[in-house]
Amino acid sequence: MADNKLYELLGVSRNATETDLKKAYRKLAKEFHPDKNPDAGEKFKEISFAYEVLSNPDKREIYDRHGLDGIKEGGAGPGGGFGGGFGGSMFEDLFGGFFGFPGGQVQRGKRRGEDTLHPLRVSLEDLYNGRTSKLQLSKTVICKKCNGMGGKSGASMRCKKCNGRGVQVQLRQLGPGMVQQLQSICSECHGEGEVIREKDRCAECKGKKVCNETKILEVHVDKGMRDGQKIPFRGEGDQQPGMEAGDVIIVLQQKEHDVFTRKDADLVMEHNISLTEALCGFKFIVKHLDGRELVIQNQPGEVIIPDKLKMVEGEGMPRHRNPFEKGNLYIKFIINFPDNNFASEDQLKVLETLLPPRPRTEIPTGENVEEVNLVDFDGSKGFSSHGARSEAYHDDDDEDGHGGNPRMQCQHQ
Ligand SMILES: [Zn+2]
Ligand SMILES: [Zn+2]
Repeated sequence: MADNKLYELLGVSRNATETDLKKAYRKLAKEFHPDKNPDAGEKFKEISFAYEVLSNPDKREIYDRHGLDGIKEGGAGPGGGFGGGFGGSMFEDLFGGFFGFPGGQVQRGKRRGEDTLHPLRVSLEDLYNGRTSKLQLSKTVICKKCNGMGGKSGASMRCKKCNGRGVQVQLRQLGPGMVQQLQSICSECHGEGEVIREKDRCAECKGKKVCNETKILEVHVDKGMRDGQKIPFRGEGDQQPGMEAGDVIIVLQQKEHDVFTRKDADLVMEHNISLTEALCGFKFIVKHLDGRELVIQNQPGEVIIPDKLKMVEGEGMPRHRNPFEKGNLYIKFIINFPDNNFASEDQLKVLETLLPPRPRTEIPTGENVEEVNLVDFDGSKGFSSHGARSEAYHDDDDEDGHGGNPRMQCQHQ
């Protein structure tokens, strides 16, 4: 026995005539119309759907024989005048919402509007100290003058184009005996199923039921929040009649900082020191994100080697919701060595007496020993491997058909 659900929705028997169906549908549609009964939007859709199927003799026959599944699978029964399938995705759209077929969600209560994302650029200082910023945004709100009705009560009429269903259904012939059903939002009433006569439209919203409003949101950026963190404002999204407003979601975007890079709760910075400082100690000032000036110092004789990391405990970022606990500040040291000829030969001899002794190297003698020149190498041009070597290749590749003098081809240096 096929299911009876659509008949039950309309409260009629299986042998109801077309007139019975129409009567039942009208009565229920009035009762559950979203304007009168904003919480019954889903119920209204179910009723409309039941009527849509049962008022069409072909669809009704399929439904009678095979139930909703029969319609869903598009498996028209033998002899069914409606020979084709319905588009699968359309079916999920149509059924998924209220019958809970796989692939669709069962929705409860009011439909919810979309969330609106707003980026908010913040500095690392803002994230360290916390900050309140005011964000101005414009949104649609239910018209206060007509209470979202779009006009005087009773001014709305059923849309003639879609017969109040809000959707237009088109049948498309795919081939012999194959029909696809396409469904689109009604262009006349934009899916609302009703229109308001021009003279009855609300002067404030011009029948649109909503108005634009500028709203200022106070965004509290808490200490320790991070790049990409979302701050939701529940229900501050655009309002639409019969719908629960979505959220406005502020997404923090941290600007790069000149000195610090953040790694979770830690801060990392680089600092250049001279070789003298690396060997003989230093003091320098780091201006922190809250304006304090930290004096960073290293004792003479405590040697800093290139790329050495040192840490100042507790001077990193505050932790979100626990701002008294902080990460660490890591400092990576870059050492600037002196330029060539920074000292005379005699001075260097003095310097050498202060530095650890050099390792002793025995220089061998003999025919195999050759003194070569060490020159500066400019790394930006890459390794010059095709100097001597590629010439050697070309010397004996006459057979490659180029003819002429192969040496000519590689004289780019
Ligand atoms: Zn319409
Ligand atoms: Zn209005």
